[in-house]
Amino acid sequence: MELVHIRELFDLSGKVAVVTGGSRGIGQEIARGLGEAGAAVAITARREQWLSPAEEALRLQGIECFARVCDVSQPAQVSEAVSAVINRFGRIDILVNNAGASWGEPVETMTLEKWRLVFETNVNGCFLMSQAVGNAMISAGGGTIVNVASIAGLVGMAPDVLNAAGYSASKGAVISLTRDLAVKWARHGIRVNAIAPGFFETRMTAGVLDKSRAAIEAGTPLGRIGRIEELKGVAVFLASPAASYITGQVVVVDGGGTAW
Ligand code: NAP
Repeated sequence: MELVHIRELFDLSGKVAVVTGGSRGIGQEIARGLGEAGAAVAITARREQWLSPAEEALRLQGIECFARVCDVSQPAQVSEAVSAVINRFGRIDILVNNAGASWGEPVETMTLEKWRLVFETNVNGCFLMSQAVGNAMISAGGGTIVNVASIAGLVGMAPDVLNAAGYSASKGAVISLTRDLAVKWARHGIRVNAIAPGFFETRMTAGVLDKSRAAIEAGTPLGRIGRIEELKGVAVFLASPAASYITGQVVVVDGGGTAW
C-alpha cells in the first residue's frame, strides 16, 4: 500500500482551478482557499468593478491568479472564458460553479421573468460551465467539479426567512445535476460534488439578514450566521485528493440548521 502523507492529500500545487463568481463573497473566499492550497486560480464574474480588485487581492497574497469577465448564462462568453483559461494555464483540473443569483418575492406574485433570471445563472450557468470545462477534463483524463448549492435546495424555507422559491428550485436542480454528472462522468475520472451552505454574510444575503437575522440565528444550533472563511476548507477538501473516493455528494455547511 502506498503511504500518502495527509499534507499531500490536501495539496493542490500544480493544479489549475476556475471559480465562477470569484469576484467577491463566497467565490472569492473559495478561490483564496484553493490558491492557498497551491492551485493557480482563474476567477470569473460579469462585472469588472469587483473582479479586478479580487484578482489584485489574490495576487498580493502570492496566488497565481487570472481574471476574466464572463456571464455564465451566455454560451459564447463561457466558451471564450474557458478557452482563455486553457490558453493561459494549459488545462483545468478544478471547476467551482459558484456564480449565483437570487430574487426574493412571494411565489404568489413572482414573475416568470424573475424566475427565469435566477435559473439562467444558477442552473443554465452551472450546466454551460460544467459542459465546457467537463469536455476539456474528459480530453485531459479527469478533474473535479464543486458546485455551490444551498440548503434551500434541500429543504423548504419559511417565508419569513427566505422567500425565494425560484432560488430554492434552482439550487435543487444544481444538486440533481451534481448527482447525475457524478454518475455520468465517473468513467472519465471526474468527481462532482456540491456544497450546501446555510446563511453566510455576503452581498447576496444583506437584505435577508437585515430582516431575518434573529430568526435564522434562532434556527441554527450553533446560534450564529456563517463566516465565509468557514467554506474554503470544504471546497479545498472536495477538490483535493483527500476526497478521491467521494463523488455525487452534498456537504452541508449550515451550523446545524438542517440537523433538527
Ligand atoms: P455574492 O456576493 O452576490 O456573489 C455572487 C458572485 O456571482 C459574484 O461574483 C457575482 O459577480 C457572480 N455572478 C452573479 N451572476 C453571475 C452570472 N450570471 N455570471 C457570472 N457571474 C455571476 O453572493 P454569495 O453569497 O457569495 O454567493 C455565492 C454562491 O453561494 C451563490 O451560488 C449563492 O447562491 C451561494 N450561496 C450563498 C449563501 C449565502 O448565505 N451567502 C448561502 C447558500 C448558497 P457579478 O455580479 O459581477 O457577476
